[in-house]
Amino acid sequence: MIKLANDVRADLHSHTTASDGVLLPAELVREAAARGLTHIAISDHDTLAGIAPAQQAAHDHGIDVIPAIEVTCRSGEQEIHVLGLCIDANSADLIAFAGMVRRARYERYVAMVERLRDVCGLADLTVEAAVPVKEGSLGRPELARMLLEMKYVGRLQEAFDMWLGKGKPAFVPNSAPDVSEALAAIHGAGGASILAHCGLYRDGEALAARLLDQGLMGIEVFHPDHSVSRQERLLALARERKALVSGGADFHEHDSPKAKHFGRVYVGRTDLERLFEATN
Ligand SMILES: [Zn+2]
Ligand SMILES: [Zn+2]
Repeated sequence: MIKLANDVRADLHSHTTASDGVLLPAELVREAAARGLTHIAISDHDTLAGIAPAQQAAHDHGIDVIPAIEVTCRSGEQEIHVLGLCIDANSADLIAFAGMVRRARYERYVAMVERLRDVCGLADLTVEAAVPVKEGSLGRPELARMLLEMKYVGRLQEAFDMWLGKGKPAFVPNSAPDVSEALAAIHGAGGASILAHCGLYRDGEALAARLLDQGLMGIEVFHPDHSVSRQERLLALARERKALVSGGADFHEHDSPKAKHFGRVYVGRTDLERLFEATN
């Protein structure tokens, strides 16, 4: 039986410069401690690179770092994110899997840029110009934003309507792995699989229930994008299915309106003890 102190405040979802966050791992850890958290999961998109530097900094700030990852995958045609909590950050298999996911995402992005140039007639568009400096979450929204910045479109939606939407000339299907592969990779590295921000998906609760049948271990109940009623429904589902309950601020940057949730969205002692027991 794992027994933690009473005053646990564990944020189980955050991002650093290793993916698309703006704080260095050490800066994120300092900020997390300053905001009163006792534990912080470093869960960058498809990379484990932020974990070791965060762990080194953690000693100085009296906070525990939980090694984690946020894996991009697919359920049917829908892209979803699955958190792997308490993973072995040195797992060669998980590192290779994450590299494969990043590569596939990059190649899809470049293929769409090339179609924009060669099929859609944006002759001046180059791959170098269209790939953002931060490659943390390359996808159609990022590409649409680049097209807006480069003034090829006047509104984001135009990019989808003309080129990037499904069935449009620059569309390339998502090549992220199936969720079953993501679950296997996370479990293989000793981690607990948690469906991230269920409230952002079509039929999020039905999806969560279905994935629990497929071996998903828990649900992210507490997230800045979840309404109170959404949290209540997700919590009821997790309790009914005896699944793990997770939560975190999904912190990326100070300038976001969501930044104020950092330090306020967390799980307490009971849920963290259950997570540790499930991954021990
Ligand atoms: Zn996510
Ligand atoms: Zn995230």
